[in-house]
Amino acid sequence: MPRLAAGNWKMHGLSDDLAEARALAATWPDPPVDVVLCPPATLIARMSVVLAGSGMRIGGQDCHAATSGAHTGDISAAMLADAGASHVILGHSERRADHGETSAQVADKVRAAWDTGLTTIVCIGETEAERNAGATLEVVAGQLEHSLPRNATASNTVVAYEPVWAIGTGRTPSPDEIAEVHAFLRGQLPDPGIRLLYGGSVKPANADSIFALPEVDGALVGGASLKAADFGGIIAALGRA
Ligand code: PEP
Repeated sequence: MPRLAAGNWKMHGLSDDLAEARALAATWPDPPVDVVLCPPATLIARMSVVLAGSGMRIGGQDCHAATSGAHTGDISAAMLADAGASHVILGHSERRADHGETSAQVADKVRAAWDTGLTTIVCIGETEAERNAGATLEVVAGQLEHSLPRNATASNTVVAYEPVWAIGTGRTPSPDEIAEVHAFLRGQLPDPGIRLLYGGSVKPANADSIFALPEVDGALVGGASLKAADFGGIIAALGRA
């Protein structure tokens, strides 16, 4: 499978910001790696027009486990697909923290997304306290086991290892720490071909050193995905790796 650069715009992005997606597609008419941009739900349909023909794909940032129903404010996997998404991020640590999402709930959402034909980007990662307690591998193994149904395959799933304390902080684990977790996770995946992304303060300046690590198949990028120049720098680094 090609390497993957996925951008998570989180709750950032109004109509004018589509100019960044337009600039990205113009700079990378034929990107050297797979690229998925995950804007807020309000921009998915318009971004799918902007990126049409670019080879870049679009993802949602969450979906409900039900196909439809009385769930005010929620969005179903089918709605994401209908708007133009092919992927969906599930179990991001901000969803787990802000909305109390459990790994079991994430697994239900994963199944719903698969049923609709979406590829899931399933996020796992330890808090700083868990790392300091030496519990990182135990935590990520538990999250992986309970968030990811065992019939996950490389074609319907991507896993993103995102240490919570590295997200949006400018701090990253050492290369050895990233390599240790990725090597461990590779052995825990239900299908060893599932792409394993690193996420947490990836920037153009540190991308080369992260992508040089074994078992790192790409990145899930937050802040640096908002600007075409920054995300483009990460795409270029991944293409070189
Ligand atoms: C993320 O949102 O998944 C993320 C990794 O954010 P950042 O790159 O800003 O740390």
